[in-house]
Amino acid sequence: MWSLLQALDENDRLIRFTDKRSYSEWRYLQKAGRFRCPICNQQVRMRLGTKRRWHFAHQKSEQCPSGGEGESDEHVRGKQLLFHWAAKQNKATQLETYLRESKQRPDVYIEASSPLALEFQCATLSAKTLYERNTLYARQGISPVWIFGGNRLKRKRRQMFQIHQFEWYGLQYAKREPFFIYLDAHTEQVCLLRHVVAVLPSLALATPSFIALERLTLSDLRHPPPLSVCYTDSLSAYRQQVKNNVHRNRLFVHLLGTFQLTNIPLTAGWPLPTQRYLQVSPFLWQTSFIHAYLCHAFNSAPRTLTQIAVLLSSCLRQFRHPFKPYCNPKKVTSHLAREYLALLEVFGLLKKIAPATFIKSDEEILSCSGKEKEQHFLRCWHEWLLAHHKHAGEAETKQGKEASI
Ligand SMILES: [Zn+2]
Repeated sequence: MWSLLQALDENDRLIRFTDKRSYSEWRYLQKAGRFRCPICNQQVRMRLGTKRRWHFAHQKSEQCPSGGEGESDEHVRGKQLLFHWAAKQNKATQLETYLRESKQRPDVYIEASSPLALEFQCATLSAKTLYERNTLYARQGISPVWIFGGNRLKRKRRQMFQIHQFEWYGLQYAKREPFFIYLDAHTEQVCLLRHVVAVLPSLALATPSFIALERLTLSDLRHPPPLSVCYTDSLSAYRQQVKNNVHRNRLFVHLLGTFQLTNIPLTAGWPLPTQRYLQVSPFLWQTSFIHAYLCHAFNSAPRTLTQIAVLLSSCLRQFRHPFKPYCNPKKVTSHLAREYLALLEVFGLLKKIAPATFIKSDEEILSCSGKEKEQHFLRCWHEWLLAHHKHAGEAETKQGKEASI
């Protein structure tokens, strides 16, 4: 069964559970009325039970595009909350609108010069589903706003969160700052997970900020207010943990053996913004890239960004499935190369001599070591990352642009 929050009565009037009626009025409607699905016209039943949120029960049907996955109680409740919340701020808010062109039914749709589709997602979906929905919305000029159920917020450490593979495709952007939105439908609290930086495919550094739904505005959701964050301690602790456990990981052991290293070098393991499209740990690919490619490349002459991107591409190809599905490996590689070179420049290991051309500085890339150096690198990385998030990039100002990279 699918559950709908609205249906048509015999007079083609839209009956919505978000309308205010007394219990006896609802009972009267239930007894007297026959209801149909607004999209396929199939008969639906009004359910006024005590176990679940009130809804219209719709038989699963191949002919009707309104359903999809079954909707949990939490999903129905969250959808209602979001509808009321958005409708208070924008009159053109619609519940369960059917977009004929793309056969989509966003939970809440807000008509505007740049329309929004709010999608409240509690259940686990495939990355493919999210990717396709984003693509269809983008084609119609609609920005999808993914709001995950409170059940999906999984904190691993103070600033470390578990991110499911499909959830990455619901990442939102304010300028270049990536963030996630969660709504707990029971407490009516919103959590914005700010300044998200992927560390591993299912792990991210992020800073949570909680706010009651009623205090949040639609514009906060698209452009959250500035928030001060600090990741140096968290990343430092995480780096230490990876280094302590490096000998238990077969891939690391192999890599360290290849380059005759005793541990991961200081120049590797730096989460970059584009890391979120990769399935290889930054400790692995950066170790390999520095030792097998970069240290030789810069020995003789200046190198351009394009040349370095070509090297990075062959470095990444040594790993099995380095890229996440539905991204453009060429674009990802070129972004990564640009970001990593910029970071090495900030570390003082490279010098930029022309807009996209670098040479080695006096400090040897391979010989960086020591606690003080690590602290210095941590501060440099952090400043550089936050500066990057503040910047309004051309490709990343549009929400839902996941489809394009
Ligand atoms: Zn239907």
